[in-house]
Amino acid sequence: MAQHFDYIAIGGGSGGIASANRAAMRGAKVALIEAKHMGGTCVNVGCVPKKVMWHGAQVAEAIKLYAPDYGFDVELKNFDWAKLVESREAYIGRIHKGYEGYLAKNGVTVINGFAKFVDNKTIEVNGEHYTADHISIAVGGRPSIPNIPGAEYGIDSNGFFELDEQPRRVAVIGAGYIAVELAGVLNSLGTETHLFVRKHAPLRSFDPLVVETLTEVMEKEGPTLHTNATPKALTKETDGSVTLHLENGDSHTVDQVIWAIGREPVTDLINLQATDVETNERGFIKTDEYQNTSVPGIYALGDIMEGGIELTPVAVKAGRMLAERLFNPELPDAKMDYELVPTVVFSHPPIGTIGLTEPQAIAQYGEENVKVYTSTFAAMYTAVTQHRQPCKMKLVCVGEDEKIVGLHGIGFAVDEMIQGFAVAMKMGATKADFDSVVAIHPTGSEEFVTMR
Ligand code: NDP
Repeated sequence: MAQHFDYIAIGGGSGGIASANRAAMRGAKVALIEAKHMGGTCVNVGCVPKKVMWHGAQVAEAIKLYAPDYGFDVELKNFDWAKLVESREAYIGRIHKGYEGYLAKNGVTVINGFAKFVDNKTIEVNGEHYTADHISIAVGGRPSIPNIPGAEYGIDSNGFFELDEQPRRVAVIGAGYIAVELAGVLNSLGTETHLFVRKHAPLRSFDPLVVETLTEVMEKEGPTLHTNATPKALTKETDGSVTLHLENGDSHTVDQVIWAIGREPVTDLINLQATDVETNERGFIKTDEYQNTSVPGIYALGDIMEGGIELTPVAVKAGRMLAERLFNPELPDAKMDYELVPTVVFSHPPIGTIGLTEPQAIAQYGEENVKVYTSTFAAMYTAVTQHRQPCKMKLVCVGEDEKIVGLHGIGFAVDEMIQGFAVAMKMGATKADFDSVVAIHPTGSEEFVTMR
């Protein structure tokens, strides 16, 4: 006899946990199925451990680059990678406990095991059957590995978080968030780091001002950027090192090659073929704007959905909105708003971006309707030292009233500047609204409200 719930979330990651908790808070009988640790990619092999490593890199930069000109006579004797990993994993352990406590408090039944569909209404875990009126698929993705000879000699972002000692030389391959973030962390922590991108620059879809500044800083501070570098093969050397062979004939030997070329959905693992849920050719699940799949009562959340935005807070918000729509009679139309999603890349220096890039705005509104404001300065924290680092910002405005449709920044502390500006943009802020605000001085964020 199958155990029945009002709502089952498959996958204890960002989307699954958020939707399960919210559904239970609205009075539903809820189960959450997870095979491994609670928290999914974000908590275990993504945002959280990455940010800890990034903070570690910030400490290294403070000691190596900035401390001397602030008058500190410090000598960096040793960096203990294993200690940083130990602190990181202990912190993640505390997050697991927090999640477990919150799920228990809300009365969510946690089922440990791997879920597989039996039919449109039934799931099997560890030989037991479970049914629900509403089932969410929130099982996320895994890193992609290219189909080239020797690809298996490289590791992916999961493998990066398993490293218990610091690699001396690393080649990071890819041009997205993960490649840029991991390469920046490794470089700052003292690994000889090479970033290989197959086109002219990393983060090509970001605003050109951001991309140019990132590459300018990389040229000065590292990692070593290799552009137009397409991987052809990896070979293993007798001493354990790995050689990366490029299409252009170059080769580079390092201790670790890290693939960071995108992620793919894990729909193949949950016996989805037992249902009528439609996917695209890459395995992403098709949904409408309410997270509905092609099967009534089955939903998809987070990285598994076609056309979504692969970000934890997007999955969290979509999960909560779905739970409200299903179980809160006061919000029958609740849905995630995928417009103006702010995002940060924890690069060196960090990048913050909201809305349209300048080229996107021109394509959408026409050049004559777009006005752009920029600001360039050296972040004060760095400007008093010999390691001046640029901070650059841009506002993209459209129409007579100069509505702000894009906000972009790169530089010291930009990661902590943009959240509030996203609120303003969601409310339809114009350049005049930004100008009406008194600047907070001296900060970097004041530049966003004082551009001429
Ligand atoms: P992305 O999809 O962002 O970027 C991967 C890039 O790698 C591609 O855009 C492509 O860039 C390049 N690439 C693709 N295939 C190959 C190949 N065969 N050889 C060489 N390069 C290749 O993926 P990521 O893995 O970086 O990240 C996945 C998602 O996770 C991101 O989209 C992001 O939303 C999320 N994330 C968010 C973070 C944050 O919020 N701070 C942090 C980390 C991840 P090109 O076409 O230019 O070559």
